[in-house]
Amino acid sequence: MNFSLQNITRNNILSLQPYSSARDEFTGEASVFLDANENPFNSPLNRYPDPRQVVLKNQLGILKKQAPNCIFLGNGSDEPIDLLFRAFCEPGEDNVVAIAPTYGMYQVAAGINNIEFREVLLQEDFSLNAEKILSATDSATKLIFLCSPNNPTGNALQQDEIIRIINNFNGLVILDEAYIDFCPDKSLLGNLEQYSNLVILQTLSKAWGLAAIRLGMAFASPEIISVLSKIKYPYNINLLTQEKALEVLQSSEEKELWVKTILQQKEILKKELARLPLILKIYPSDANFILVTTTDAKYIYNSLVNKQIIVRDRSRVALCGEALRITVGTEAENRILLEALKEIGELNRNK
Ligand SMILES: *Cc1c(COP(=O)(O)O)cnc(C)c1O
Repeated sequence: MNFSLQNITRNNILSLQPYSSARDEFTGEASVFLDANENPFNSPLNRYPDPRQVVLKNQLGILKKQAPNCIFLGNGSDEPIDLLFRAFCEPGEDNVVAIAPTYGMYQVAAGINNIEFREVLLQEDFSLNAEKILSATDSATKLIFLCSPNNPTGNALQQDEIIRIINNFNGLVILDEAYIDFCPDKSLLGNLEQYSNLVILQTLSKAWGLAAIRLGMAFASPEIISVLSKIKYPYNINLLTQEKALEVLQSSEEKELWVKTILQQKEILKKELARLPLILKIYPSDANFILVTTTDAKYIYNSLVNKQIIVRDRSRVALCGEALRITVGTEAENRILLEALKEIGELNRNK
């Protein structure tokens, strides 16, 4: 492999002089702040938040066993996904490769940035074939998107195939681990230092139960992180989000309890779904959702909507014919879903 960050960074980004905010130019201790045209009243919300998120990154660094300069924080994972395109992909010239089916935001971000999006189908069992991915790349391929556990399929990709891709690609590999807390396989975060072209995405939106505060994380080499930091909006993480995240990250016990409960509920849900004639196949899941093949996805989806139960219709997605994606809810919510599916099945049989 012959990876050079300089080689894949757009020239306009290399030469960019980033915006220097008032809070950037002075970082020491002071008691009178007359530098940022803030209102002196309404403390603490009158002050701009820390643009570098120093305290939060230190705390997160301890939890994730990463140096703070290997962490980028974004307004959800969406922000680092978009910034990776803006930093490394020349509109109208470059391309990216992604597995299919997968999370829809990679393709949307590619479209916004006018970057060709090359989809490579997973195997029929949703496993990853590194050779197939690598052979879709060419000299204009800057990013490869992998997602493990993958959305909407639910399975973790094989680590040896992921590493084969990282080791044989001269651009960046983006590994989205949004669901890693639910997965029996270990995160690749512990091996991040070995891979200069790896970016790992995680989020507080799933296991941590904080989708509303919008905090996504990217982990990578300090060089990659500094490129992303250079082009982000200066105050991309607001004060309320920084404070809430800091509070929650000090103790991960509640998160671990939630994960354990959700995984137990998933096993019950899988068993019960398997008994329903409407459900033809249940795919293995390493996440907090289950992909199932049904007799008629659209009909079942609409029937559930009529009962005010919303699942995700994935039947028009590659390799996902007649599939619904079901998030694991509370015991009571799962029970309501199962009862509804039973009723829909019986109605159908009596027709
Ligand atoms: C839910 C999800 C995310 C989370 O996105 P946020 O912007 O952090 O809320 C990221 N990646 C995948 C694959 C997801 O399914």
